[in-house]
Amino acid sequence: MQNDENDDTCAMCGKKINEQKKLVLVEKIDDANYIFDSEDCALIFKKFRSLYGNNFS
Ligand SMILES: [Zn+2]
Repeated sequence: MQNDENDDTCAMCGKKINEQKKLVLVEKIDDANYIFDSEDCALIFKKFRSLYGNNFS
C-alpha cells in the first residue's frame, strides 16, 4: 500500500483526479480551495453554493 497524501479528488463528484491530465481546477470559495476534475464540476459546485449559500458543504 502506498501512503498517498496527494490523493486528490474532485470536490463535486469525488472522482480521483488524474494529475497527468492536468485538468485540475482550483477554485477559491469562501477562503477555502476546492479542486475539481473538470470545469463542469466547478460550475455545478458554484451553482449549488449560490443556491444553498453557506449551508452547502
Ligand atoms: Zn468532478
